Amino acid sequence: MFDALLAEKSEDGLQSIALRQLSEEQLPPGDVTVRIEYSALNYKDALALTGNGPILRSFPIVPGIDFAGTVENSSCLRFSPGQKVILNGWGAGEKHWGGFSGLARVPGEWLVPLPSAFTTRQAMALGTAGYTAMLCVRMLQKQGVTPGCGDILVTGATGGVGSVAVMLLARLGYNVTAVTGRMEEKDTLLSLGACNVIPRQSFEGQIRPLEKARWAGAIDVAGGKMLAAVCASMQSSGVVAACGLAAGMDLPATVAPFILRGVILAGVDSVYCSQSERLAAWQDLAALTDSARLESVTTEISLLQAVSEAEKLLNGQVKGRVVVKVA
Ligand code: NDP
Repeated sequence: MFDALLAEKSEDGLQSIALRQLSEEQLPPGDVTVRIEYSALNYKDALALTGNGPILRSFPIVPGIDFAGTVENSSCLRFSPGQKVILNGWGAGEKHWGGFSGLARVPGEWLVPLPSAFTTRQAMALGTAGYTAMLCVRMLQKQGVTPGCGDILVTGATGGVGSVAVMLLARLGYNVTAVTGRMEEKDTLLSLGACNVIPRQSFEGQIRPLEKARWAGAIDVAGGKMLAAVCASMQSSGVVAACGLAAGMDLPATVAPFILRGVILAGVDSVYCSQSERLAAWQDLAALTDSARLESVTTEISLLQAVSEAEKLLNGQVKGRVVVKVA
């Protein structure tokens, strides 16, 4: 038997989540069984646990879009018992039973070997947010944005994706300007490597089709009016890696930045990203992560605390990364 958070839906459509004791026979099919040590609380998990977004697609289901642990059984040739592994996305914690559980059974092709630089806790301190930050940085690099091109803007900088993006970009030698709604966290952002910190409100006024050209690259977790304002203030040939919707799903923009400055808006999807890109992103994370800085923005909670912490995350009361101790 093992502990898991199980989400169920009643006949009248109400979602409930409770800590349950489950047995291995209840797990869905898959060729690798993993003893989970840590999961993480990501924005999508917060939506799933609070029922604030249609994240959970079938019931009953174990939420949790990522995990790190040790292979217990495997009929997949790539993995053997005792090996440490990571899972991000592929629909885990949405359509397939996910990481808020002592055991998981998944297809081996979804798993990535844990880089030797990391413990399972460090991997989940990065979690899907950190891995997505790395995918965004790689997107800027692939589009030719180098430290010499100019300053890089990161929105939602005290959040999971934003804080890791600031750390990674600074480590790579970029000049980073962090945007935050929490200016009281300015010193934390400077200690992560930001050169400047500016308030979110400076992007919230009336947006002109083209604003002063300031940024060579940007990583945006907000979407909505924020993303429109970021696009309007990019330099010629600037690149925006867009991955989130913390401010909204809409995009009230004009085409001016794209047709008059050649700005590139590059979407980043971590969930169904190719296995080769995942492996490369985790290798880059292993090379670039400063474990002391990561630990300084990491909080650890238990499975039982996950639902109340999810509410805080959606209310903007959580900064940095939250790891969930499962074992
Ligand atoms: P967090 O909640 O940890 O961080 C989001 C941050 O966004 C907040 O901390 C806040 O930072 C900022 N923010 C909140 N509300 C607004 C607003 N109205 N306008 C502008 N900024 C706002 O979430 P994550 O970092 O884990 O995820 C960020 C986004 O990225 C989410 O939308 C998530 O769904 C998405 N995402 C997408 C992935 C993909 O594959 N495409 C993968 C992972 C995440 P501050 O207070 O500093 O301004």
